[in-house]
Amino acid sequence: MMTTFASFNLNPAIAKAIDACGFETPTPIQAKSIPIVMAGRDLMASSQTGSGKTASFVVPMLHRLMERSGTGRRGPRALVLTPTRELAVQVQEEVRRFGKFSGLTSGIVVGGVGYGPQYQLLSRPLDVLVATPGRLIDHLDQKKVDLSNVEFLVLDEADRMLDMGFVKPVRRIAGYTPDSKQSLLFSATLEGEVRRVATDLLRQPELVELAANKVRHEGIEQKLFHVDNVDHKRRLLDHWLGDREIKQAVIFTGTKRRADRLAKSLALSGHSCAALHGDKTQGQRKRTIDQMRDGSVKLLVATDVAARGLDIDGISHVINYDLPMVPEDYIHRIGRTGRAGATGTAISLVAPEDREKLRDIEKLTGNRLVGEHLKGDEPKIPLTVVIPKAPKPAPRGRGQQGGGQGGGQGRAPQGNGQGRNRNGGGGRPGGQPQGGGRSENRGGSRGPRPARA
Ligand code: AMP
Repeated sequence: MMTTFASFNLNPAIAKAIDACGFETPTPIQAKSIPIVMAGRDLMASSQTGSGKTASFVVPMLHRLMERSGTGRRGPRALVLTPTRELAVQVQEEVRRFGKFSGLTSGIVVGGVGYGPQYQLLSRPLDVLVATPGRLIDHLDQKKVDLSNVEFLVLDEADRMLDMGFVKPVRRIAGYTPDSKQSLLFSATLEGEVRRVATDLLRQPELVELAANKVRHEGIEQKLFHVDNVDHKRRLLDHWLGDREIKQAVIFTGTKRRADRLAKSLALSGHSCAALHGDKTQGQRKRTIDQMRDGSVKLLVATDVAARGLDIDGISHVINYDLPMVPEDYIHRIGRTGRAGATGTAISLVAPEDREKLRDIEKLTGNRLVGEHLKGDEPKIPLTVVIPKAPKPAPRGRGQQGGGQGGGQGRAPQGNGQGRNRNGGGGRPGGQPQGGGRSENRGGSRGPRPARA
């Protein structure tokens, strides 16, 4: 039988807000997680942005907060930690959306903005605080935040948070919260450091593991083009940008500098284009995202960190101009398209030196992408060439023997123009998001005054 939101028996104020959002059926992660959290259990869930995971914790958390009243003392009753300020802003937006009729309050504490208003926010009772670990630690060090009333601790995108070097801050923050709290952890992977943190922080958690990486990204068509070099990348990009199917695209580059350069060059070619990366001020970032939302900017050239949490419905294409350093970011990146049930296309440009990265991505996603090429602009470097590994030291006393064998990465010669990899139909939101460096984790666009949730 299909689960419905009504079957959860949610607090009427929360149920009304869900209705107002027009959500009819819970996504798979919501169907599984909401009852667990409502029952007061700790939860560890593998999840992707785009799967509806934010509501899967926000909805039952607000419900639980409505069941009891707070102590009236300063500090938050629920604390949600996110890796980046963008994600923090989005989580708070969902808190406000689903808490619209609840009277619950929420606030946000992230880096890159002034401390004063945050001090004020933290000096009062607050139902939900969404924070990035770095800035929250600053407040803890200054004794400006009291976490002793925390009933709920949520670690959102825990893998990313730990990748960004927040292991200690997260553990420290958790250490200031009461043992009696309910804890939830959401992460793309539940292995390694994430698993260790979960084991330490959660109490007999229920485990929700949805479709592995392999079957995610319904509705996103993944394509791959082999290229010779950066000039070749640019030619292909120009070709696609002439294509009317691209409504809006996020183009990922490996560095901030490359993002700036490409954005500038695309703007010179007449495209409405902006760059988004960690060197942008909070104001600039907010403006750029608003312009993407209202459609006045069509192309966003971004680094991984900056694009984490981007939730813009109109993005029809993600272009991996440079492949990501970490394979998980591939999943985050392509999840910028195909949001909320829409379909999207993700195109990756793979230069000869990227083959190892490609192999890692394929391993992670379980998808072997068949390379395509643009007729008349095929790669000149044969794809079957095996790049030799560093030669083994020659056995003593003998001459240099033939070097390495190569890693067997030679790909089947290119495409026949099909390389498509559509995983099933659309329907449910099904993608994920972004990544990044600590330095990019500043700022928050939302004012720190407690908002009616
Ligand atoms: P998330 O995975 O939390 O980033 O959510 C991805 C998108 O799906 C957001 O735009 C949500 O508003 C939307 N969404 C979440 N839950 C549902 C649902 N049950 N029905 C329709 N859309 C949803």
